[in-house]
Formats: sequence, C-alpha cells, structure tokens
Amino acid sequence: MKDKKQLTAWDKKYIWHPFTQMKDYMNMEPLMIERGEGCYLVDTDGKKYIDGVSSLWVLVHGHKKKELIEALINQSQKLCHSTLLGLANVPSTVLAQKLIEISPKGLTKVFYSDNGSTAVEIALKMAYQYWQQKGERKRKTFISFTNGYHGDTIGSVSVGGIDLFHKVYKPLLFKTYKAPAPYCYRCPLKLKRESCDMACVSAYEQLVHSHRHELCAAIIEPCIQGAAGMITQPRGFLSAIWKITKENGILFIADEVATGFGRTGTMFACEHEKVEPDFLCLAKGITGGYLPLAATLTTDEVFGGFLGEFHEFKTFFHGHTYTGNPVASAVAVANIELFKTEKTLTHLKPKIRLLTKELERFKNLPHVGEVRQCGFMVGIELVRNRKTKEPFTPEEKVGQRAIWEARKRGVVIRPLGDVIVLMPPLVIETEILQELLHVTYESIRVVTE
Ligand SMILES: *Cc1c(COP(=O)(O)O)cnc(C)c1O
Repeated sequence: MKDKKQLTAWDKKYIWHPFTQMKDYMNMEPLMIERGEGCYLVDTDGKKYIDGVSSLWVLVHGHKKKELIEALINQSQKLCHSTLLGLANVPSTVLAQKLIEISPKGLTKVFYSDNGSTAVEIALKMAYQYWQQKGERKRKTFISFTNGYHGDTIGSVSVGGIDLFHKVYKPLLFKTYKAPAPYCYRCPLKLKRESCDMACVSAYEQLVHSHRHELCAAIIEPCIQGAAGMITQPRGFLSAIWKITKENGILFIADEVATGFGRTGTMFACEHEKVEPDFLCLAKGITGGYLPLAATLTTDEVFGGFLGEFHEFKTFFHGHTYTGNPVASAVAVANIELFKTEKTLTHLKPKIRLLTKELERFKNLPHVGEVRQCGFMVGIELVRNRKTKEPFTPEEKVGQRAIWEARKRGVVIRPLGDVIVLMPPLVIETEILQELLHVTYESIRVVTE
C-alpha cells in the first residue's frame, strides 16, 4: 500500500472527479477512503466517517456485509463474465426471476445494463422503437418534468430538466416536452399547496392531450425528484400522472434508479400509489451498493413489439459489453435475499418515523427554508431569508461549507446546491442515525450563523 501522501498527490495529479469543480478540489486536502465497515467509511488515517449519503445513494445493507461479499467471492470463483448477447448465464437468470417477483404487476421482462443512465436510455429507445415498429411513426418524442434527473448520457439528459447540469448541452439534445413538476415550496405555477387543487396535474393533462399523437412515453421519478434537491411530490400526484398517460395511450417510464430497493420505505416507490409502469428503471441500490449493475424492466406488450422474423430486423439492437455481468448479478440476488431474511423494510419503518420526528427541530434553524422527506431520502433546503425564500448566492457555497463542517465532525455527506441531502444506509443503527442528524444540525447551524 502506498502512503497517504503519495496517494493524495496522485489523486490530484491524475483524477478528474465527477460533478466536482476541480479548481476547488485541487486546493483541498482530499479525503482518501480505504475501507468500509457497516455504515462507516474509513480513511487512510483510520478515521471513521458515517456514510450519510450511502456512497451516492447506493448502500442498502452496509459496507462489508458478509452475505454480499460471500456471493461476490463465490461467483467470481466460478465465472466473472460471459456475454448475454445470445447467451445466458446462471446469476443473471436467477436475478431476472427475482426482479420480476418483487416488482409491480405487469412487468415481465428484464433488460440489463450497468448504470442508471443506460437503464433510462434503454427504456427511451425501447419505447421509441416499439411505436415505430407498430407503425405509429409520428411518435418521436417524450414528456418529462422540469427539474427531472435521469442520468448524464445524451438521451437521459434530453429528458432531464435541471438547467444547471443540462442547459449547455441543449443543441445536442432531442426534443421533449417538459411539464411543470411540483415543487410546492417554490411552485412553478405560483400557487399555494393548500388551495392549488394540484393544478400541475391539469397542466400535465393539457400538455399530454395536445401532443398525444407525437408522444412515445412519459418519464418520471416517482414520489420524489432526487438530484433536483429531494423535491417531494404531493400524495396522489404520481397516480394522477400515470392515469393520464394511460388514458392517452402513451407508455409510462418509472425511473426508480434512486427510489428503488427500499429507499422510500417500500421496495419500489410506485407501490405507494399502486402504479404499474410500462418500464421500471433500476440501478443504484440493486447490488446493495457493491457493483455496477442496472436493469430496465418492461411488459409483454412492449416485448412483443420486437418479435418478428430474423430478416425483418425488429430486434432491439442495443447491448453493453458487461450486460448481465454474473458477479454483479450474484450480488444483486444476495441483496434481494437479505431484504427477505433480515426483514429490512420492516425494520426500516420505525427508523423512518424517528427520522421524521428528529427532522422537526431542523425547522427551528433560521436558515432552513424547507425540510423534505420521502422515506429514507431527505433534503434540507437552506435559504438566506426564510420569509422571502431568497436563496444564498453560489459564491457563498453554503451547501459545500456545511458538508465540510460535517466532515470535520466525522460525517460524509454531499449537498445538491444549497440542499443538504441525507440518504443513510437502510440498515443504519438508531444511535448512528441520531449522530448523523446531530452532526448535520450542528454543521448547518455553524455555517449559517
Ligand atoms: C442516479 C440517477 C440516475 C443515473 O444513474 P447513474 O448510475 O449515475 O448513471 C438516473 N435516474 C435517477 C433518478 C438517478 O437518481
């Protein structure tokens, strides 16, 4: 093992970190993680940090989980990779059966890839090709939401709606319709939650109705827009949107890359409102946070649209080299089994309630504008002026400074602008959860004093 000085020098010299202003990063002392242990990350000095955002929203059963490591080792001793292009392998087959078993009704087919962006790209391409092959050639576009996030590849950015990330690429993107997403704290329709009667649903309906013959599919992050700043949707919004797409005969893509695998308290967020999507995009938590893997689930109806004679070329010409990787699939199988054997979702319930209760006191901090929660996804929006909701300026780097304070106190978190995000591993012990909240509270207090 190289010493820490050498490693941090190489990090600064060679690595370009994602979503990171490298000018700032190169002036900082990098935090070099060496190990993981349950809900903690451990750096090269042996210092422990609570993994407060589950290593970017992926961790479910904690680091160094025996069953997951065993699954990984056992499978890697048998077979590390073989292609899924015209060939099957054992773990990805077992996993497909399990995914269908736990997912919403109507989903019957699994298409693998290796990250959330590709899971979304696949759903978009399938939906498009499905209609083309059905002879509905005018259907060439999608409807998505403002503030939506579906990944970083060009297709997934096309259906994205976060100007800060996506605006610069605009000339490269395909056309989509953007409906106003509910962001009740800063309502795009300038209405009040108590009296709005979910006007955003009507706006959606109008938009869908006027473009229904051009639309292939609708895409949504069910219940909560993650990367936008943990923006929760009012109850009933998701099912209303789903119903509108059904009535207008367009396909419905649920991007559960962030919300899947228990994050919101149920296995999938669609369950909260009994929604049965035509596509379910999964990644992040699918292997419990151990290896890259993704899946796009769809229906017999969509699958059937691709069947034909070889020479008709109705084939879905898409596939990644590591599609259905056996090691990642084996870990994903073990991950799903742990949900059952350890009753992860049952144990999560009281922890969600505790989190709700503990978050109350954050509302007393003078610069906390809104606290949002959906299960184990939390966003704390910091504002300069609570009355006017005036934000801090980017120069103030309030979110950044808060997480640096947290780091000093032994917590790793990552903000989304001025929204402090908490996404603890689902199995976090109560005391560690309390400590995470305590440190977050103090960090916000210190930087906004
Ligand atoms: C993270 C995320 C993605 C992209 O997943 P990657 O694995 O980072 O490509 C897509 N959709 C949602 C909702 C996400 O949170």
